[in-house]
Amino acid sequence: QKQITRLPEWLKTPIPDSSSFKKIKNDLRGLNLHTVCEEARCPNISDCWGGSDKSAATATIMLMGDTCTRGCRFCSVKTSKAPPPLDPHEPEHTAEALSRWGLGYVVLTSVDRDDLADGGARHFAETVRKIKHKAPTILVECLTGDYAGDLEMVSHVAQSGLDVYAHNVETVEALTPQVRDRRATFRQSLSVLKAAKEAKEGLITKTSIMLGLGETEEQLWHALRELRGVGVDVVTFGQYMRPTKRHMPVHEYVTPDVFELWRQRALDMGFLYCASGPLVRSSYKAGEAFIENVLK
Ligand code: SF4
Ligand code: SF4
Repeated sequence: QKQITRLPEWLKTPIPDSSSFKKIKNDLRGLNLHTVCEEARCPNISDCWGGSDKSAATATIMLMGDTCTRGCRFCSVKTSKAPPPLDPHEPEHTAEALSRWGLGYVVLTSVDRDDLADGGARHFAETVRKIKHKAPTILVECLTGDYAGDLEMVSHVAQSGLDVYAHNVETVEALTPQVRDRRATFRQSLSVLKAAKEAKEGLITKTSIMLGLGETEEQLWHALRELRGVGVDVVTFGQYMRPTKRHMPVHEYVTPDVFELWRQRALDMGFLYCASGPLVRSSYKAGEAFIENVLK
């Protein structure tokens, strides 16, 4: 397989200036919340957190521990067949911390927990309910796994009071077996997104695709058509970055122009909005985009 190691200019971003991280550290002090933004030293932190308007700021929080039962070939999260049990106080603590924080938009995400009978869906839904109870103005996006195709669990989460249901297909259908854990399929992900859309009127659904894994234009068009076919509202595109040498190689560094082209194409196909760029991650400026495109 073709392998590229040199990083193009547009990916050589300076590490976000430490004042953004300091600001987060200060905000989070004493809240005992772990953001993906901070822990992954996400390069988008100034964009997501930037500006003086905290009501549009976005942060991503990881629920249900740091150990996943799956092993996707692009992901560096640690894996185990039997991760530690859930913290039953996490929904309450998360809601309490978020209500004190005063953030506008939170993305709740988690590892996959195939070891739990409900995949952790009830825990997720409980967290959303508690957040909405304690901090009703905060907008909540849940980025979930596929619950092994258990659509009842998808509906359960979709009806918990969240504002956006996100589930990532990650790549085109043809590459899915090489990229994602063998338990994940493109069709199953489509059924998750469809079930979420049908579970609650007006719910916004969202997915994310990594570029640079070797997908062809035709495969991408196909993926977008399938996603629109199940009513997905929002799509994001970002560059696949290889976490370590043990992970899948990058096939190609897609240029910013091509990202912009796909953003336009997605909008032309009827997606409500689309974030697309080499460093875009599915939660990139999600609060700002939601406020601009859905609330206004
Ligand atoms: Fe946090 Fe996601 Fe924004 Fe990165 S892209 S700073 S993880 S909200
Ligand atoms: Fe990583 Fe998610 Fe795959 Fe688990 S299911 S290995 S957290 S991408």
